[in-house]
Amino acid sequence: MSSIYDHPLLGGPLAIVCPGCDEQAVFSTSHGKPLPVRLCTATGEVLPDNWDGHVRCSACGHAARHVLDWPSDAWFKLDHRGETLWAKDAEMLAEIRRLIAAGAERQAIKKASTHARYLVRIPSTFLKATDRETLLRKIDRLT
Ligand SMILES: [Zn+2]
Repeated sequence: MSSIYDHPLLGGPLAIVCPGCDEQAVFSTSHGKPLPVRLCTATGEVLPDNWDGHVRCSACGHAARHVLDWPSDAWFKLDHRGETLWAKDAEMLAEIRRLIAAGAERQAIKKASTHARYLVRIPSTFLKATDRETLLRKIDRLT
């Protein structure tokens, strides 16, 4: 699990790579709660770092339980200078793109975004002015 968005509030649904056909599928958490969750099994065992959920793919019809490997499973992700930039869905990717493209208004964009809690965690690697054009091109290739 990479450092940056490594925080305990990964809410679904998430766009992931389908384990069946490599097209875009949707992952939902088992409990409707952000991941990871603490699970208490019937035997009383506590599983503190649980990433279980369900994947559903409209391309191939795959529907099954799935243990999320994030951000490795992410559909919207790109590598840049050794770090992985990811988005949980197309809407969040659009917000990230807007943030990277912005100059002085970045703080205002972060504050106003429904994805603020993720945007504030984007590492400086992705916010360097010198890398802006390269990153925007990479993001555009994802969509
Ligand atoms: Zn599929």
